[in-house]
Amino acid sequence: MSATTHLPGEIVHHLRTTFESGKTKPIEYRIKQLRALQRLLQENEKEISKALFADLHKSKHEGVMTEINFVLNELTYILMHLHDWVKSEWPPKQFANVLDSVYILHEPYGVALIIGAWNYPLQLTLSPVIGAIAAGNCVVIKPSEVAVATAKFIANTIPKYLDEDSIQVYLGGIPETTELLKEKFDYIFYTGSSTVGKIIHAAAAKHLTPTTLELGGKSPVYLDASAHIERAARRIIWGKFMNVGQTCVAPDYLLCSKEVQAKFLSYSKKILKEFFGNNPKLSPDYGRIINDRQFQRLVGLLKTGNIAIGGEVDASERYIAPTIITDVTMKDPIMEDEIFGPILPIVNVDNPYEAISYITNKEKPLALYIFSNNKDIVKLILDNTSSGGVTVNDTVMHLTVPNLPFGGVGNSGMGAYHGEYSYNTFTHKRSVLHKNLGTLVDKLSTARYPPLNDRKISY
Ligand code: NAD
Repeated sequence: MSATTHLPGEIVHHLRTTFESGKTKPIEYRIKQLRALQRLLQENEKEISKALFADLHKSKHEGVMTEINFVLNELTYILMHLHDWVKSEWPPKQFANVLDSVYILHEPYGVALIIGAWNYPLQLTLSPVIGAIAAGNCVVIKPSEVAVATAKFIANTIPKYLDEDSIQVYLGGIPETTELLKEKFDYIFYTGSSTVGKIIHAAAAKHLTPTTLELGGKSPVYLDASAHIERAARRIIWGKFMNVGQTCVAPDYLLCSKEVQAKFLSYSKKILKEFFGNNPKLSPDYGRIINDRQFQRLVGLLKTGNIAIGGEVDASERYIAPTIITDVTMKDPIMEDEIFGPILPIVNVDNPYEAISYITNKEKPLALYIFSNNKDIVKLILDNTSSGGVTVNDTVMHLTVPNLPFGGVGNSGMGAYHGEYSYNTFTHKRSVLHKNLGTLVDKLSTARYPPLNDRKISY
């Protein structure tokens, strides 16, 4: 069955037939598919790099680090632990069930739909697929149509390595995804904007399909005077300008005092030169904006405040220099929606309490970054804010820890994945009480049978 020429209904029917045959359930089958995915990545590094460069001007090294190796590490970790995770759980028993068996079976949901985003088009599409396969599901993969070359690579390569009876790629944009979403899936895993997340959630609700939504938001950084400002600046600049700011957990805006800002700007100039040379446009490690629509949106944001660093643009290449803007207030348009580009606004605050009030006046972000050497300040901010995840004294890195759940909260998403959390996301935990049918248990059970009386209910 070819991946893209069939209608959504036909694809889902085919996968459901496979699922019901039980083919995807044995752990040996799951491991075979995961190993095939490993080979796909190892044998196609050049092709993947080409696709990522075509879509995002992503350098070979950045692509290997943030996409190929990320997925390979996830595969290695899951393959290492899967035998333990699939085991049924045996929770402690209470006296009433002492003669019975009480356990939790792990079962796959069935046919899962995974909708990927364009900014890390390989990682964000294939990483959840690992969890779905590990848990024994069939999968429809819908890569983002915006990252054209990577979507094509995924569609052409997946059928060559993975079992087409259980894993299919479906290509398309909004109309095709809308059609796909009319089908009844057993699980939907979506990565993308919060606006589209609501559409996905509404479509899933029609079939009461459980959903994970990996969304975005404005992830703040609080930079405290107690931090080592130069080291902090290096980590903030790295997290912000990697993939030219098109990272869901990129630091969106910086909160710091005027004094800290002065030091931060001076270090940032030096660090940007270290990273990307005198002209970032010529740096192999500096990417481009995905398309003209996003480029124009970002250029519009440059009108805010004062440009302290950068600001140069070139529409012919969709290039925007690493830019830092000062004199920004929380009321400026740049502070409304996620920036998702290489522009870092700085909003001045006098103390952590003011930072907390700015953070909590906005939707709950996907990530929060606190730079401070003062444990009390770190605790104060953690206790009085909420976010999907947090890294203290660095940016982005919490998502690389396989035994930390990665996901949002509120407007930045629901559910989580990575490592065992991916396996759990795609696994239904089925409670089983296996009663003993013997005489003794039968006698003990009589208290619940009518006719009821005071003596029976006092047990
Ligand atoms: P996108 O345009 O690629 O959309 C994501 C997916 O949604 C695509 O597969 C697309 O086909 C589908 N889609 C778009 N509009 C649709 C519609 N009306 N109906 C049905 N499907 C539709 O990506 P995007 O939304 O521009 O992604 C950027 C956002 O994603 C940012 O907010 C970013 O923070 C967030 N994001 C979150 C994560 C995370 O892990 N939480 C990762 C990356 C990106």
